[in-house]
Amino acid sequence: MTAPLHDTHAAGPGRALPDTQQGMRRRNLARVLHAVSAEGPLSRAAVASRIGLTRAAVSSLVDELIRSGLLEELGPERPGRVGRPGSALAVSGHGPAGIGAEIGVDHLAVCAVDLRGQVRARAERHVANRGRAPGPVIGELTELVHRVVAEAQGEGLWPAGLAVAVPGLVARDARTVVRAPNLDWHDIDLGALLPSAYPLTVDNEANFGALAELWLGDATPHDFLHVSAEIGIGAALVVAGGLLRGTRGFAGELGHVPVQPEGPLCPCGGRGCLEQYAGEEAVLRAAGLAPGEDRVGLLAGRAADGDEAVRRALREAGAALGVALTGAVNLLDPESVVLGGALSGLAPWLLPALEAELDRRTAGPACPVSVSRLGPEGPLLGAAHSVVRAVLDDPAAVAERA
Ligand SMILES: [Zn+2]
Repeated sequence: MTAPLHDTHAAGPGRALPDTQQGMRRRNLARVLHAVSAEGPLSRAAVASRIGLTRAAVSSLVDELIRSGLLEELGPERPGRVGRPGSALAVSGHGPAGIGAEIGVDHLAVCAVDLRGQVRARAERHVANRGRAPGPVIGELTELVHRVVAEAQGEGLWPAGLAVAVPGLVARDARTVVRAPNLDWHDIDLGALLPSAYPLTVDNEANFGALAELWLGDATPHDFLHVSAEIGIGAALVVAGGLLRGTRGFAGELGHVPVQPEGPLCPCGGRGCLEQYAGEEAVLRAAGLAPGEDRVGLLAGRAADGDEAVRRALREAGAALGVALTGAVNLLDPESVVLGGALSGLAPWLLPALEAELDRRTAGPACPVSVSRLGPEGPLLGAAHSVVRAVLDDPAAVAERA
């Protein structure tokens, strides 16, 4: 089967469901849940008028969603209104939770997000993962998953699925890491190593970062190029509210776009890749600083104090980003570029040179560049929210597992 180039998962509720009576009911369950999620608390009558179904039909759908633990009643609406008071409905804060996890080059993190989008539990560990075998890394991550799940269960939530963000290329099976140069991992089936108790999705951290921006960002457009980084630099293109994944799922490797054809060697095997100029370690090297734990904090602190060597290194990194992004912007014409991930903490010093290169080199009018408010939390939140979105898009599938 050929996978679609364009991932429309994020484009709307229940799109892939069959056109049968049962399929119709599943779609309508999703429409009710989406309406309450987007605009709740709402009465049954308000839901009916929002989605254009009869009050009786909505009541039956709502009852099913309450039985499944996805909706809850908050009690009678404002007293004093004419007619029988309707009970206000809200998305449950005690139902399914999305478990998001992130494998970074030097950290592991896990969080639980409820259907209301609130982070209810979180655990993190700083650990140098570069060159470590996958087994022990996944062992530590699994401990964090169990800790977060236990904490979420203590609050009445149950895990609806686990989504893991990794700094590397992920196969279309959404479980195999094909290549993670900064971890030195090749063809690792994470599905075989992670707990099998929950449905699992593995994806590139830049993809989850972009989805987080799409779902949680302030007035994010539906077509944008999201750039995120820690040691590696990744990008993801969102088109019409869905990810453009490429034929094999490997689209967005901005960090390995060459900016100097004969530049330094890169772990990917290429030369002069953007990562060698604008990755965190490259910037530290250029500034004459040793790589430590809080690299962005160190660079931001020095730059704010007026350290000229650091400011110059960040200007040069910004310029390299601008050159690489010019290629992407000229090719793809996105509505905007969003700087996310750890990079966003360095935006004040990266942006002027980045924008100058983009303005100078792009064929059309300058493409606006903004900074994500989610910062380094983007990939982890995107992972957890991807599970939550899947529940909202097909609540019947989750109710079957509850
Ligand atoms: Zn490279």
